[in-house]
Amino acid sequence: MLINGEWTEARSGLSFEVLNPATGESIGSVADGGAEDALLAITAAHDAFKTWSKTTAYERSAVLYRAWEIMTSRADELAHLMTVEQGKPLKASKAEVKYASDFLLWFAEEAKRVVGEWLPSQRPDQRFLSVKVPVGVVAAITPWNYPISMLTRKIGPALAAGCTVVLKPAEATPLCAKATFDVLTDAGLPDGVINMVTTSNPAPVGDIFTSDPRVAKLTFTGSTAVGRVLAAKAASNLQRVSVELGGHAPFIVFPDADPVHAAKGAAALKFLNAGQACISPNRLYVPSSLADLFQETLCSRVERLQTGNGLHDGVGVGPLINEVAVAKVETQVEDARNKGAGIPVGGMRLVNGEHSNGHFYAPTVLTDVKPEMSIYREETFGPVAPVITYEDPEQVIEMANDTNYGLAAYVYTKEIGVAMRAFEGLRFGIIGINDVNPTSASVPFGGMGDSGIGREGGHEGISEYLETKTGGFAI
Ligand code: NAP
Repeated sequence: MLINGEWTEARSGLSFEVLNPATGESIGSVADGGAEDALLAITAAHDAFKTWSKTTAYERSAVLYRAWEIMTSRADELAHLMTVEQGKPLKASKAEVKYASDFLLWFAEEAKRVVGEWLPSQRPDQRFLSVKVPVGVVAAITPWNYPISMLTRKIGPALAAGCTVVLKPAEATPLCAKATFDVLTDAGLPDGVINMVTTSNPAPVGDIFTSDPRVAKLTFTGSTAVGRVLAAKAASNLQRVSVELGGHAPFIVFPDADPVHAAKGAAALKFLNAGQACISPNRLYVPSSLADLFQETLCSRVERLQTGNGLHDGVGVGPLINEVAVAKVETQVEDARNKGAGIPVGGMRLVNGEHSNGHFYAPTVLTDVKPEMSIYREETFGPVAPVITYEDPEQVIEMANDTNYGLAAYVYTKEIGVAMRAFEGLRFGIIGINDVNPTSASVPFGGMGDSGIGREGGHEGISEYLETKTGGFAI
């Protein structure tokens, strides 16, 4: 854990092991912190806020810029660590490190774009001034699926705004969090500005983060179930709250689209990070007129995907994070099978040979998926592509919107009018039109409904860490 600039053990002296999900081997151990450690971290962040919040935007920008340079120079070692700890193939880890560093650079620039305004008064002897100030100490809680970029997406804007941070990273990926903190401290952050409490028992740390009056804001990325509980606790203490939660993305192929092109896009997108992404497509809507060609192309692509240790050449799909994740996918696929889905590819755990000690599930295509199947409504978080055949393009937007989630959606069409109507009609925060990667540090990321509150990245990303102060000056 990092508390007030010192890497420390837990007060309890306990630690826990970190495992490689591809091999089951231990790759290290970290301090197993608790409530007492969380309080010390908050004290450090609270003290450091007094000076960090007074630094100039240029100083904060310079630190973030240096952090970007350091992360870029360490990209290969960070990517290797990510593959060993989280499982995604090395190429995908490199892409994530690049995405993570993009937030450091973007917010190095945004730090200098925080401005106030003079506002009109009805009185000639009065002036109004409105400025932005940092909210204070930020408590951040992050997931394992993007174990470096989910940190920089929060810490970058928080630091740029002048806030200090206490982080609790996911239990499965504390080593990536430590390596990210090494980048930030090596960039010259003063002691106490960022602090990290690792733990295998998140609830007591979460309780402190959401109840300590010195914490001004909670920023959480993770499941809707946990986010809902933490947001409720934080709100009861009037902390500001941003929560980036789960998703259930529709992927709509319209009848005018090229089904082969769309299927290639679906195959590329669905199996990224073994499907463990909040913006992963969970419902592939295909018109019956295109279903055969779409499914044929999708299946042939999925059959060719190699599943294994992400360090090995040619592997396109790594392990799932743990046994619970594999069991959840298995339950959803069995439910779909029992209710009549076809399984032309995959549909089972991989347990032999190089898969025997890891958490592997075969890349899978489900056909004839129906609303009564659990996979139609529950987030999958695994390498399973559920295809739903539809008849009426007038109704497909309504079908896609029939979910409490509202994070990402994808549309394939060649018609600009169809694309625009879909963009306007879909109730989701991020929409890819013939585009399987509608994300970047430069654009807002976040969802509607049960997918969360707030936006990260883009111009909005920093405003989550600022509040407004208005001055009326009688002159
Ligand atoms: P999770 O179980 O909700 O965990 C997220 C974080 O919350 C972890 O650090 C976890 O710690 C912690 N946590 C769990 N229970 C807690 C409690 N009672 N108090 C305080 N902290 C607690 O989610 P996950 O399985 O790690 O991540 C997958 C989920 O994240 C998916 O639903 C995915 O869609 C979502 N996600 C959303 C976005 C987005 O931007 N919208 C991005 C990535 C992921 P432990 O690790 O110790 O359990």
